[in-house]
Amino acid sequence: MKAEVITVGTELLLGQIIDTNSVYLSHKLAEIGIDLFFKTTVGDNTERLKQALSIAFERADIIILTGGLGPTVDDITRQAVSEFTGKKLVFKNDILLKINEFFKNRKIEMPECNKIQAYLPEEALIIENTVGTAPGFIVEHNSKFIIAMPGVPSEMHPMMEKIVIPFILEKQGYRKSIIKYKTLKVTGLPESEINDKIKDIFENSTNPTIGVLAHQIEIDIRITAKAEDKKKADEMIEEKKKEIYNRLNENIFAEDDETLEGKIANLLFERNLKISTAESCTAGLLSFRLTNIPGSSKYFSGGVNVYSNYAKTEILGVKKETLEKYGAVSQECARQLAKNCREKFRTDIGVSITGIAGPTGGTDEKPVGLVYSCINVKGNENSYKHNFSGSRDVVRARAVQMALFNLYKLLRWSS
Ligand code: ATP
Ligand code: MG
Repeated sequence: MKAEVITVGTELLLGQIIDTNSVYLSHKLAEIGIDLFFKTTVGDNTERLKQALSIAFERADIIILTGGLGPTVDDITRQAVSEFTGKKLVFKNDILLKINEFFKNRKIEMPECNKIQAYLPEEALIIENTVGTAPGFIVEHNSKFIIAMPGVPSEMHPMMEKIVIPFILEKQGYRKSIIKYKTLKVTGLPESEINDKIKDIFENSTNPTIGVLAHQIEIDIRITAKAEDKKKADEMIEEKKKEIYNRLNENIFAEDDETLEGKIANLLFERNLKISTAESCTAGLLSFRLTNIPGSSKYFSGGVNVYSNYAKTEILGVKKETLEKYGAVSQECARQLAKNCREKFRTDIGVSITGIAGPTGGTDEKPVGLVYSCINVKGNENSYKHNFSGSRDVVRARAVQMALFNLYKLLRWSS
């Protein structure tokens, strides 16, 4: 089965909003093995949407539309689908009641215009909207399917996950099979190196399939298994997972919804360890990440942004001679920051980061992206030097990620 995505909205064409819906839909369709060869964006114009539908209809079995289901005159999706398929828009009282209830729950009078959302193409399968007012719908036309959902991502995602994906799988004939996923999160290695390490696994995998998705600071390896039941799918995933762990054990830090800071938090909790931070170029991003976890006050004592040389010497007691001799971006400075912050905060662990985030300020000797970090664990110093590439944001995000990853490795291997 082939699918096409049509996103509807003049704001999308004007560049006023980013089309995240089609990205989301691409991922979801890929996950269930549905081919997607074309994506189209159309403005709020009935004739042009009908044209787009007509072209998509020639090439695909399933056409997924988002947007244009609202109650205003520029919401033309219902009308366009009706005209294209020849299926009249019919009034559905039960839907009107639901829309009414939506407003009642919010103690607002339902605006007259919302009534239009209760008109749907005849014989359409209705996709309930559990978040907003506009229901989605599925229309069968010449043995193909047009699936329309609202543009608002928080309304569209649950519809896709709860109704549309099972619907497509059933139509595709996977009635008796289920799909399970597992994501392995990897950091500290470039995508190309990860690719080299698992290339053969990747190439020889049809079921489970392996997908690699690179983000700014981590790379996700996604295992997707299709099987007749959950147990079998889990077994298939487990086997593939072991193969990947054998190659990348060092760099896999979490699975599925787990986060790096969450894993660190667990280890700090378990061992009753307290931590503090001293940051220069990342100015608080490290303490931000460490405190993403509810209850972080149990292990995070505090952090300081020692951005200027003055702050480094006066607040955290870095020696003036150190700054003169080695500079603020140096191993020596990172060591003193970690040691002194640990002592000031009276914590078990002190973590420091100092570097050149760029885009300016680099020299031949100390280029943009050079970052020193130190993790002082009860007086034992662990020093790190990194050369990151990328924009200012990326360098800072990577500096924090590596500091956290190094900390995680220290905690993980020392029990
Ligand atoms: P509404 O009831 O809000 O009018 P709708 O189904 O008519 O919903 P649109 O009017 O097309 O949808 O879009 C509503 C909002 O949803 C947009 O302002 C935008 O914030 C978001 N949105 C729409 N399409 C997309 C898209 N393709 N990607 C990301 N966000 C989108
Ligand atoms: Mg709208």
